[in-house]
Amino acid sequence: MLNLLVSRPLLLLSKVVNVKCHSIIYATGATAKRLRLPREEEFWSRGISACAICDGASPLFKGQVLAVVGGGDTATEEALYLTKYARHVHLLVRRDQLRASKAMQDRVINNPNITVHYNTETVDVLSNTKGQMSGILLRRLDTGEETELEAKGLFYGIGHSPNSQLLEGQVELDSSGYVLVREGTSNTSVEGVFAAGDVQDHEWRQAVTAAGSGCIAALSAERYLTSNNLLVEFHQPQTEEAKKEFTQRDVQEKFDVTLTKHKGQYALRKLYHESPRVILVLYTSPTCGPCRTLKPILNKVVDEYHSEVHLVEIDIEEDQEIAEAAGIMGTPCVQFFKNKEMLRTISGVKMKKEYREFIEANK
Ligand code: NDP
Repeated sequence: MLNLLVSRPLLLLSKVVNVKCHSIIYATGATAKRLRLPREEEFWSRGISACAICDGASPLFKGQVLAVVGGGDTATEEALYLTKYARHVHLLVRRDQLRASKAMQDRVINNPNITVHYNTETVDVLSNTKGQMSGILLRRLDTGEETELEAKGLFYGIGHSPNSQLLEGQVELDSSGYVLVREGTSNTSVEGVFAAGDVQDHEWRQAVTAAGSGCIAALSAERYLTSNNLLVEFHQPQTEEAKKEFTQRDVQEKFDVTLTKHKGQYALRKLYHESPRVILVLYTSPTCGPCRTLKPILNKVVDEYHSEVHLVEIDIEEDQEIAEAAGIMGTPCVQFFKNKEMLRTISGVKMKKEYREFIEANK
């Protein structure tokens, strides 16, 4: 039996609990690094983002001048991706050269919609009289000269930190905190503990490689359990409502106000006018990784308040006007409505208790 010490946030206190299990797959990912600019918190999700793929399609950034900080593959990939939506993209690089692969460097340098600024430090963001982000204060690292660059959005592409704190002192990590696995496997230094995805991969970090390593970890865990006579099969029955709920994709005839979970703008409009329940509107976009993290979290919370709330998922690419009218600046984002009034917006992925406490206070 494996013993894993986990720290469980309990209100403001952190409680250490001992979890016993036969095998563990550790797949907690990596978190994008931040620059910690003086006004970063003020403009986080209101102009500053760490994920162009998640937020680039939001109405706030369409047709605007945008900037990306960093010189690696992430930053160059984000800059290229943003040219799909932006009027122009500036790439802010602190050294006199890019770190990205040659292929990515060529694509960026040959793209007329991208300007690369070398030896450039990002000092802070600037705002207009309406409090919206309007530009970026830059400093040349070779001359010390400061300039203001017009931009409506700033995207960070300066690397990631693995979310491996929980394993410190329990499983072997490398000097940057990535979980060490035996080459070509998901086996960590502890038998029965497997690691998958970005928490053990500082190099490839692609959805497809993470999915592949997840598959290796799942099969390895199953083999480990089987070979140690520890395998217990568990089948979760799917409820009739769960089967029905997410199949109704905004189809008018199938709309049923008594169901808890819905998709699309038709359902949102109907519920907004007809339902007395608290409505959680989840704004997502197809390429947004954090959206995939938030969905199961929100589903669990909503299941706890089954007939007291509604959950409506809005894909901001499919329902652009709704996203624009709601002022959505990035995904995932959850807005709470009740009695035709917008009560609160929560951007990004938060812990269950934050959504739960708000529902509890307003249901
Ligand atoms: P990297 O560590 O490769 O690059 C980080 C970049 O950000 C560097 O240019 C670095 O500058 C810069 N940087 C770091 N901190 C700051 C700061 N405080 N201010 C300004 N600039 C800063 O990280 P990536 O996320 O780009 O890539 C990580 C790995 O993932 C790489 O192996 C990459 O190849 C891989 N990857 C692959 C992709 C693909 O194959 N499609 C896509 C994305 C990533 P400096 O160079 O001066 O250190």
